[in-house]
Order: sequence, then structure tokens, then C-alpha cells
Amino acid sequence: MTSQTTVKTLLILGASGDLTGRLLLPGLARLVARGRADGLTLAGAGSDPWTPEQWLGRIEESFADEDSQADAHGKRELKRIRQESAYHQLDVTAEGELAGLLAQLEGPVAVYFALPPRVSQLACEALAPEDVPAGTRLVMEKPFGSDEHSARHLNKTLAGLVPEDHIHRVDHFLGKATVLNILGLRFANTFLEPVWNRQHIEKIEIIFDEDLALEGRARYYDGAGALRDMIQSHLLQIMALMAIEPPASVDERDLRDAVATVLRASSVKAPYRQNTRRARYTAGSINSRKIPDYAREDGVDASRGTETLAEVQVEIDNWRWQGVPFTLRSGKALGTKRKEAVVTFRPVPHLPKGFTGVDAPNQLRIGFGPDTLQFDVDVNGPGDVLSLDRATLQAELSASGLLPYGEVLEGVLAGDPLLSVRADTAEDCWRILAPVLKSWTAGHVPLEEYPAGTPGPEGWPGAAPA
Ligand code: NDP
Repeated sequence: MTSQTTVKTLLILGASGDLTGRLLLPGLARLVARGRADGLTLAGAGSDPWTPEQWLGRIEESFADEDSQADAHGKRELKRIRQESAYHQLDVTAEGELAGLLAQLEGPVAVYFALPPRVSQLACEALAPEDVPAGTRLVMEKPFGSDEHSARHLNKTLAGLVPEDHIHRVDHFLGKATVLNILGLRFANTFLEPVWNRQHIEKIEIIFDEDLALEGRARYYDGAGALRDMIQSHLLQIMALMAIEPPASVDERDLRDAVATVLRASSVKAPYRQNTRRARYTAGSINSRKIPDYAREDGVDASRGTETLAEVQVEIDNWRWQGVPFTLRSGKALGTKRKEAVVTFRPVPHLPKGFTGVDAPNQLRIGFGPDTLQFDVDVNGPGDVLSLDRATLQAELSASGLLPYGEVLEGVLAGDPLLSVRADTAEDCWRILAPVLKSWTAGHVPLEEYPAGTPGPEGWPGAAPA
């Protein structure tokens, strides 16, 4: 499949950084190799005095895998992009430097801010509206601000430069296929929608338990923690998709309106000691790999009390969801990897006398990356027809074939902000968690501990079933 992009030049600010080398360029490579970014020009920029060979070397390294598997068209495009790409040395925060570069590049340009968040903010403040040619797209990485106030300030700066639908606030966790898989399941099946509410659903859990530990990322992670890193951004977005009202279409406006509406109705309520939990891992082992105590890792300031596992109970105050708890949980260094949304239905009001065996509530589990579906039902087991047994109906859901950042870039290049977090939503996600952060900072919720490689502290509602 080949496609033309509306964006002519992709400018990556932070060309020498980790995100660019590890995620952005490989994501772009597959997009190009599959003929989905034909005609695109790539430019890199950074404050280091890199030679053209250094930049070319970085692209070659990131493109190598895709190049070896691409067809003739893909190989030609990968080669063309490499040959035409240039590196520009500049300080993006200095008055006029980024503006000067934008004036040289062939538009429309997508400017990818792969920069430390503070530098991105300063770079945007250094631009004036007349420096930004019509059609320019601005791509902002997470974290988007550090609280509601700073997110609002950044939104204001961006809104002064380009229209909202030209701003892409990246959420790489939710690829396009996953978003559409959730929507397809929810809204293309008549049997689900009538029971998708407080009358029939007891609780919904959205879980991202990693078996990876800190992996040398203390500089970023120790200042963030699990609540900010995962729940504030990614898990609230999944929750919203699980909870939205049926949209009229899956275009960006209908969908993002629906997401914003549900997040506006969402909050974490006091008492926070009961409705939120935080913990930090201690030394342990995962798959016979020794994991050091988080507090003793290089670059960690133990006195900060950064949590590596967080769980919050969100309530959605609307007609459909009143009283249904949404448990959002994410953590590192856990014994079992889990990346799923689990919907638990209410028990049947009356099980006819005479039946024996398993009588557990139905559960629907949507697994993410790879996307899967599992539905647990009680059926009459083999042998004794009166004895109920658990059966699981399973399906694999659609996969995109692109890497997560390839999906992000495809949306940016095509000018489709469907996957981008809208300004009001970015602010609301901070607003939802602000009281939790305040309560944790004040020490009202104890920081528990769990040995790496275990399921986390006992008794937490979102913990994996034994
Ligand atoms: P790095 O620290 O690895 O890279 C930052 C880049 O910014 C460097 O290339 C640096 O270039 C450049 N830079 C800094 N100051 C300036 C300046 N004044 N002018 C021009 N360039 C400048 O950060 P990451 O790549 O890890 O992260 C980038 C962004 O992506 C952050 O917002 C992060 O939160 C986000 N992110 C990162 C992920 C990851 O896995 N790395 C995952 C998800 C999001 P130079 O060295 O030349 O100064």
C-alpha cells in the first residue's frame, strides 16, 4: 500500500536524544518501508555540533532492520529519505533560531518536540505566530505539563501558534488499532451496549503491571513515579474509551468530544487513604534476574518517596456509571506482566436451585499489545449437566503492523489528530489526580513496599487474582 502525506517535512528537535534513536526513527522506518510516508523529507536538529555523517549514521542504524525486509519501493524510499535528510545545529530556545529554520524548510512541516519538557515549553515561547507558516503541525511529547496549571499555560502558548487540530499531544500507549478495537467491540455489538452500565457492571479495572524495573531511567522516572507516568496519561485515556457514550462517528471531533465529556465527569474522591494506594519495590528477582532495591538504584533520591506502583479508584458521576468503581493500576517490577481492562459483571439475581459447581460473575477482558479478547462464562460442564463450569471465549483483535510511534507519526503526517490528546482533556487528566498528588505529598497515604517479582502488596483491589 502506498500513500501520500499532507506533511512535506518532518523536523525532529532533539535529534541526538533517546526517544529519537530508540522509538521515533524505527517507527518512521517501518512507515516509510511500507510506502505510507512517500515523498516525506526528514530533518534533524539539536544543540550539539553534529556532522552530516553523524546524523546519517544515526538514521542508517535505525533504518537497517526495515531496510533488510522492505520491498523494492520501500528500499527506494528509505534510501531517498536518508540521502535528502540534513542535520541543523541550533538552540531551539534562542530567539529566532527555530523560526529561521522553519522558514528554510519545505512546508507543511511537522515539528516533533523530542526535547526535555522544559526546553519544549521555552522553544514554543521563543516562537511568534508569524514565525509559524500555515499548515505547520506541532507534536508534543508527554509529560504534558506537570500539573493542571502548567498544562494550561503550555496549551495557551501552543494555541497562540497553531489551531488546536494542528497540535498533536502524543499518547503512544494507545495505538490506533487498540482505540478502534475497543470502539468496535463496544459499538458494533448489540448484545453489549444494553448491559454496559451500572445496572449490569459491578466494576472495571484497567491494569498495566510491568515486569520491567527502573532499567536506568532514574533521571526521568524518579521525578515522575507510576501515577504521573502511566495513570495520569495513558490509563485515564483507556478508561475514557471504556466509558464513553456511543459517538456518531469515529472521526476526531466526535470521538474526542465523547472522551472529554466522560473525563469531565471523573474524579478520585476522598478518603484518599481508602481510594488510593502507593508502593515502592524492594530487592527481589524476576525470572531469575536479580532486581536491586529501587531506593538504592543509581540516580534515585529515596527521600522523594517516589512510588513504583500506584492504584486509584476513579468515579464517573453520570447516569451510566454512578457507583461503578474504575480501578486504575500501574507499576514496575511485578511478578506477572498484565496489560488489560477487566469488566466484571454483576452476579445473576437468582441461580436456579439444583445447579452446582462454579458460579462466578461474567468477566470480559480486553488485553492490550497484542490486543485480545476473553469472555468468561458459566456453562454446563462435561459429564454432569447440573454442574456448572467456567469457559473462556477468546479472540485475537486487529493489529496494525506498525510500531507504536509509526502509528503516532502516521496520524501526524496525514494531519489526523484522532490519537492526539486534546487540550481540555490534557488539563482534565491533571485535575482528576491533583487531590491525590496533594494527599500523597502531604504523607496522608502510606508508601507501602513489595519485593520485586511479587504481585505487589497484599489486599489491593487491582492485584492479580491468586
Ligand atoms: P534526551 O535527554 O535523551 O534528549 C533530549 C534532546 O533534546 C537531545 O537530543 C538534546 O540535544 C536536545 N536539546 C536539549 N536542549 C536543547 C536546546 N536548547 N536546543 C536544541 N536541542 C536541545 O530525552 P528523551 O529523548 O528521552 O526525551 C525527549 C522527550 O520525550 C521528553 O519529553 C520525554 O519525556 C519524552 N519521552 C521519552 C521517552 C523515552 O523513552 N525516551 C518515552 C516517552 C516520552 P543536544 O544533546 O544536542 O543538546
